[in-house]
Amino acid sequence: MSQYVFEPAARPAVPIEGEAALFPVRRIICVGANYGAQARGPGDPIAEGTEPAFFFAKPADAVVPPGRDPHYPSATELLHHEVELVIAIGASGADVPVEKALDLVFGYAVGVDMTRRDLQRAAVAIKRPWDAAKGFDDAAPISAIRRWSGAPPLGRIWLDVGGETRQDGTLDHMNRNVAEVICEISKLWRLEPGDLIYSGSSPPSSGPLERGERVVCGVEGVGKLEFTVR
Ligand code: MN
Repeated sequence: MSQYVFEPAARPAVPIEGEAALFPVRRIICVGANYGAQARGPGDPIAEGTEPAFFFAKPADAVVPPGRDPHYPSATELLHHEVELVIAIGASGADVPVEKALDLVFGYAVGVDMTRRDLQRAAVAIKRPWDAAKGFDDAAPISAIRRWSGAPPLGRIWLDVGGETRQDGTLDHMNRNVAEVICEISKLWRLEPGDLIYSGSSPPSSGPLERGERVVCGVEGVGKLEFTVR
C-alpha cells in the first residue's frame, strides 16, 4: 500500500551527456535582465551594477527534455524564446560566498526560457506578478546536461528559428557571472542538488515563435538543443 492517496507524478528529469542515469529536477530558478549592461549608458543602474539581481521561478515539471517538442501554450498570442545557459546544481548551499559558489556546479546545459510575452506585459502594466507568463507547461526546454567543474566556457550563445539567426551573443556579456548568480540566489533560497538555474538571455534577448517553427540553439562548449513548437 502506498502512503499516498494516488501515485505521485514521475519526477521531472534531464539526461546527462554520455550517461544512462538522469538528473532529477527539484526546482527551476530563472535570472531576470542578466545581459546588456554594455549596451546601456552611464547612469543606468544595470550598467553601473547597482541594480539588485532579480529572480523568478518555473515549476520543475515545465522542463522539456531533448527529443520532445514543446506545445504552443494556451492563453497567449505572443510566445517568445529566450536562449539561456542553464546551471545544473549538484551540491547544497545557502549564503554561499562567490569564491565557493562554483563548488555547487554539477554541469551546464542549453535552455530556452519560453515566455508568454503578452501576459507578461499585461501583468507588468498593472503591477501584478507574472507567474503565468513564465511558469506554464512546457515552458523550459533543455538540452542534455554536460558535466563540468567550475566556470563555463565563455563561448557563443545563439538561437535560430527556421534557419535564421535570431539571438547571437557571448557568455562573457553576462552582467553577473555564474558564481555571482549562484551566490545571489543562495541568499534567497537554499540550493540543493537537482536545482536548475536559467541564467538569463543575451540581447537581442527574445523574439516570437509560431506553431510549427523549428528552433535550433546552443552554447559553444556546452551543447545544442533542437525542437519544433507543436
Ligand atoms: Mn529569461
